[in-house]
Amino acid sequence: MALPSGLATSFPAESVPADTAAASDPDILIMVENGAGAGPFVLLCDHASNRVADAYQPFGFAADRLGLHIAWDPGALGVARLLSGRLDAPLFWPDISRLVIDCNRPLDAASLIAVESEGRAVSANVGLSGTERARRIECVHAPYHDAIDACLTQRHASGLATILIAIHSFTPVYLGKARPWHVGIVFDEDARMANALIKGLAADPGFMVGVNEPYSPADLVYYSVSRHARTHRLPAAMIEIRNNEIGDEAGQKIWADRLAEILLAATPGLLGAQQAVVRCLQVE
Ligand SMILES: [Zn+2]
Repeated sequence: MALPSGLATSFPAESVPADTAAASDPDILIMVENGAGAGPFVLLCDHASNRVADAYQPFGFAADRLGLHIAWDPGALGVARLLSGRLDAPLFWPDISRLVIDCNRPLDAASLIAVESEGRAVSANVGLSGTERARRIECVHAPYHDAIDACLTQRHASGLATILIAIHSFTPVYLGKARPWHVGIVFDEDARMANALIKGLAADPGFMVGVNEPYSPADLVYYSVSRHARTHRLPAAMIEIRNNEIGDEAGQKIWADRLAEILLAATPGLLGAQQAVVRCLQVE
């Protein structure tokens, strides 16, 4: 797979221990696992890591903030890696905390480089210069999305149909309020993949499934999926798992197994629809 040189690395998902920053080169911030995976899915894990790379240490990110869910999505990378293996899917993730820059936000969003999150100040980002903001975009946000785009373009050129899935986790209690959902499915007007996920998950009466809960595209959380799914006309959805469900490897495996089964069951119908869209476009 063609990737921007020096920005990403690729290795088999099964060779990597769960939930560790895996880059052998500490300067590599954009991670690609199973980049040549030929299954029907491409996976994103925008908030996989709470690492602050050496170049950003002088800003003084507080350790007590980096341990919190405001810095990353605990458990999400473990689930995404297992899914990458099950589905033979390329997996993209930035190995840097969202507090440095949030790859799942548009460039004009106030939360791109947050100065506050869930009522907690992120003082390391207060008063940041325009030059530093531009550097973070250039070194993290842009190469992450360029790498995803290169993969999707190459898959299309190779005749590989793709469904785009983002894996996130959310905190059980937000601003003092408990969240009842075990999992949430986030989607926009293209509900093809989301409908299959909601139906599959709701088949288990033990689950409360959030439909565009606890977040929806109006919260700007759908940026990465929307950007690439629209460009490449892909079925897509974002999966938000409550993080106490996936706090250990056993929970991550249960969720990866559950999601893989639903995703694979939905694939024939979704990719049939996608191919029909392509045929229509060609006729026009
Ligand atoms: Zn997230």
